Amino acid sequence: MITDKEKIKDIAQHGDFITGIHQYCDGWCERCAFTTQCLTFALETGDPDENESRDINNKAFWDQLAETFKAVSDQLREAMEAYDIDFDESEIQLPDMNDHMDDEIARCHECCRAARIYGEHVDSWFHQARDLFGEEDIPIDPGMEMAAAAHVEANDRLQEGLDVVRWYQHQIYVKLMRAVRSELVEARDGIDEFAKDSEGSAKVALIGIERSIAAWEDVRNHFPVMQDKVGELQGRLQRLSVKVEKAFPDARAFIRPGFDKIPLNG
Ligand code: SF4
Repeated sequence: MITDKEKIKDIAQHGDFITGIHQYCDGWCERCAFTTQCLTFALETGDPDENESRDINNKAFWDQLAETFKAVSDQLREAMEAYDIDFDESEIQLPDMNDHMDDEIARCHECCRAARIYGEHVDSWFHQARDLFGEEDIPIDPGMEMAAAAHVEANDRLQEGLDVVRWYQHQIYVKLMRAVRSELVEARDGIDEFAKDSEGSAKVALIGIERSIAAWEDVRNHFPVMQDKVGELQGRLQRLSVKVEKAFPDARAFIRPGFDKIPLNG
């Protein structure tokens, strides 16, 4: 992060930046499609980023993952309906507001609890799957190790999927905690305008959930032996997504600076 005032001023004046774009991003600059328009990125690196091809490649990466999500989300919904899993399994209820209890209230919120548990399950999945990745801790069946190594080397997509899963594993929880805390403050302060921070934060969480579901699909395709476990994690995410949409019904409509287009007809 640069500190020289003149340099900061120079960068800010000469870049074509989108105001506030960093406020509702996922912080994954390496994978961001807007580095060339982000002042925060420019200040972090010391120069306005002119690597437009990276932005284009990153956009293509996320577009492809979005396609995967579309395909897998219907399948997940159908599977859960077939198993009679109720998406709205319990009512969302915020406890009474209390100035000094926001963190505790947020931690107890159904969405945050579910996101935290998901994160724990992901850790446990990686722990169970470590022999598939050729990690050291437990004895590995040599045949399995070779097969797994071939999988990993054969397709960068698997590694990318795992990177996506890891990036959002805890971020979903963090964003939901912020969404609930902000909602408490907004309710206390009587803020009832459009574009509330609670909605923006919930939207970022929803995007992380969807990207994770899609990324898990790539992982699932590589490790048929782990299909059930991965499917269970995708199911958790799908149910979490429904809970978040119910708790923050306007989150989808939130316009994130730079990332979302303002609807032409309001
Ligand atoms: S908008 Fe993109 S480049 Fe800027 S801070 Fe967020 S992730 Fe990084």
